[in-house]
Amino acid sequence: MDKAILHPGSVIIGRLPQGVDLLDGLMAVCRENGISMAHLSALGAMQRATIGYYNQTSRCYEYINIDEPVELLDLVGNASLRDNSVVIHAHVTLADRSGKALGGHLAPGTIVFACEYTITSLEGEPLKRTHDAQTGLHLWHKNQ
Ligand code: ZN
Repeated sequence: MDKAILHPGSVIIGRLPQGVDLLDGLMAVCRENGISMAHLSALGAMQRATIGYYNQTSRCYEYINIDEPVELLDLVGNASLRDNSVVIHAHVTLADRSGKALGGHLAPGTIVFACEYTITSLEGEPLKRTHDAQTGLHLWHKNQ
């Protein structure tokens, strides 16, 4: 297993502006604060959402569009490097007005109504994402 032992650095908490794409908003906070590796969490409400499901047979993401307001019950994710650029990988659990939950891989097109985030920067030699032949995904590998 590829792993790294890192140390928590700054913890940034804040609120994203309404109307921003959730992934873009979190990415902007990382960039503005020089963060290349971090643990992310968030909660709030989204105007709409797009989530992905990775089809392990076809090795493609299948996307689910949710064209209604939903609660963001939880977002858990991380920031790391891919081709020397910061990328965010996050999964979300959403709930509709009846309280039914739906979740998946956070995709572009998830638009903030309100969102509170906590980003814990991690200091040390970061893991980098490279293509993984076994899964077809870009996974963490050390020193590449
Ligand atoms: Zn994912």
